[in-house]
Amino acid sequence: MPRPPRYQVGDVGSAYPGTPVAPTPRTAPLPRRDPAAPPQRAAPRPPWRRRATRLAALALAVMAVVATTAAAGRHAAATDLRVARAAQVGPPAWPGPVTLLRGLLAGPPTVVLQVGHLDAADAPDELAALRTRTGASAGGVDEVAVNAAVADALAARLRADGVRVRIVGTTVPPNLRATLALALHADGVQDANRRGYKSAHAIPTRTRRDPWLLASIDAAYLDAAPMPHDAVNVSPAMTRYYAFAHDRFRHALHPGTAAVIVEMGYLTHPADRAWLAAPDRPAAALHDGVTRYLAAVARWHPALAWRAGGPTSFGGVP
Ligand SMILES: [Zn+2]
Repeated sequence: MPRPPRYQVGDVGSAYPGTPVAPTPRTAPLPRRDPAAPPQRAAPRPPWRRRATRLAALALAVMAVVATTAAAGRHAAATDLRVARAAQVGPPAWPGPVTLLRGLLAGPPTVVLQVGHLDAADAPDELAALRTRTGASAGGVDEVAVNAAVADALAARLRADGVRVRIVGTTVPPNLRATLALALHADGVQDANRRGYKSAHAIPTRTRRDPWLLASIDAAYLDAAPMPHDAVNVSPAMTRYYAFAHDRFRHALHPGTAAVIVEMGYLTHPADRAWLAAPDRPAAALHDGVTRYLAAVARWHPALAWRAGGPTSFGGVP
């Protein structure tokens, strides 16, 4: 028996010729899209377009990172130069537009001066270990008295320049914020031959401005003070100074506040002690360091000192 052909003209969709094909009944209209239903996915883009889009996005991201890094590097290098130049020859002759704008928007800069060991007994519980650290004493001179006298003299000079100043003791108010902070100390050791000035910012640095402030203060102090740079004796107590350690203590400076601790000389060395006996000398040196730094980072200029005599209250934007 010959096999019938599978398909014949007129047979549509049937594997069995001669079998009538029932038309597919359209039982219901096509469902309408529910407006609340999530939108249908667009047809996928061809792979080459996806690859091209990804490549373009990657290239843009790389260019943005390179441009930002280069700009930050240029800015940092330029500020390095400005700090070095201000340390050599003082602030520039005229305030730049950035300095003027910042002065206009943020008002005068604010400086926190910490008198080392002042009111140590009042330290909060988290700093209870400091309550008995009342500072060095030698030759009838107490460190706290030297620190306080230098802070007062420095504050008077800065206020005359229109800079706002706040003096604090051992206890720094939590998260205290300022344009910069200086912790003032003088040293004392058993070795009567040891002398000199030393200083430190926190390590690791708290802000990229820390090294600029340190460089400016060091240059001014070492230029004015008749004593060597005792850099080899910078201790962990300085680089991990509690008042800068916002990661360990509540009573510490705001992390954005550039801060440096200075040991202005050894009270146990007669020559250092004699120089510190006139507090306006270290104060004048530190004043030069502070104002040259402020000018170098475009935050202050002598021409803006017309604000002197204005409000010296603290609490504005740093
Ligand atoms: Zn001290």
